[in-house]
Amino acid sequence: MATSASANLSKVVKQHYMNLPQGDKVQVMYVWIDGSGEGLRCKTRTLDSEPTTIRDVPEWNFDGSSTYQSEGSNSDMYLIPAAMFRDPFRKDPNKLVLCEVFNHNRKPAATNLRHRCKQIMSMVMNQQPWFGMEQEYTLLGTDGRPFGWPSNGFRGPQGPHYCGVGADKAFGRDIVEAHYRACLYAGVQICGTNAEVMPAQWEFQIGPSEGISVGDHLWMARFILHRVCEDFGVVATLDPKPIPGNWNGAGCHTNFSTKEMRQDGGLKAIEESIERLGKRHSYHIRDYDPKGGLDNARRLTGDNETSNIKNFSASVADRCASIRIPRAVSYDKKGYFEDRRPSANCDPYVVSEALIRTCLLKEEGDEPTDYSK
Ligand code: ADP
Ligand code: MN
Ligand code: MN
Ligand code: MN
Repeated sequence: MATSASANLSKVVKQHYMNLPQGDKVQVMYVWIDGSGEGLRCKTRTLDSEPTTIRDVPEWNFDGSSTYQSEGSNSDMYLIPAAMFRDPFRKDPNKLVLCEVFNHNRKPAATNLRHRCKQIMSMVMNQQPWFGMEQEYTLLGTDGRPFGWPSNGFRGPQGPHYCGVGADKAFGRDIVEAHYRACLYAGVQICGTNAEVMPAQWEFQIGPSEGISVGDHLWMARFILHRVCEDFGVVATLDPKPIPGNWNGAGCHTNFSTKEMRQDGGLKAIEESIERLGKRHSYHIRDYDPKGGLDNARRLTGDNETSNIKNFSASVADRCASIRIPRAVSYDKKGYFEDRRPSANCDPYVVSEALIRTCLLKEEGDEPTDYSK
């Protein structure tokens, strides 16, 4: 099975050094989204004391010409700390800090989509919008084949793997367990995991998280996933259809509710939101993967528990609809709904913003409203 060279270095020898005391210094790893809008980058600096809030973490910078974020001639980009977590790799008192990226004239970088999301969230905080995102992903060996699959063939058909147990059904559980515990240590709002339908495909869930925090927590959970996988010498891909054909793709179902939807009789507000979403399908499809719908075109075929990308549909307990109302929500007449369209590699800041714009700010048509005017 293909794994990376660094994964084969002795982790026992490494542990000797990680057990050395670090004095009164603190290591802070700055994490940011690169110019691809999907990749994550990180670098570390030493602070003289432990930051207690995000305001204690200083701004920093990096070379944007090496991250697809600027030209070489004017390459300094700013890292502005946005959300702080405990570091599950170096452990306390060290930190992981998710940052927003700004360019040299202090404008948000093209893939800093948190900035606008935060502005939109601030307009609706009185409605207490909650999000829960289900991150599906696929483990690959360094040969690019799904982990545990034969290097030049396929596994037996799907069926026994979803929530499966056993060496012939679940591939890579060590990674799932390590990631789950690392997220809990970090303070990431992870609420569960399960094995998925395609062998070597897994899911974790974030939430319910209010406003901007769902994006912060999902991005940090992705960072922790890639970092854990690095230790094990495997790769986690968020490609929405890693194996073409009759194999399930990978999505990022987004569950959404407001205070009103969660109260008695909230089903009415849920149905109103769904009606608005139905009139704005193409706007949402454009926002639900980083390539304006091209990635989801491979995944949302209408087969393998997806809806067809061309059509909008909504119903109770239907996993082939764009929007699913969970059966318990229909029974209780309150709760939340699930938008099944976002792809695994979506930007959660963009997805959560689009839901707010359509459902709460009641926007219509193909373009987002500019509220600065
Ligand atoms: P599924 O049955 O679609 O696989 P999961 O159990 O994987 O559902 O995920 C459910 C998600 O819904 C979780 O992320 C959870 O945080 C989220 N969730 C639960 N209640 C709410 C709510 N009231 N508002 C928004 N999200 C919610
Ligand atoms: Mn799920
Ligand atoms: Mn799933
Ligand atoms: Mn789901």
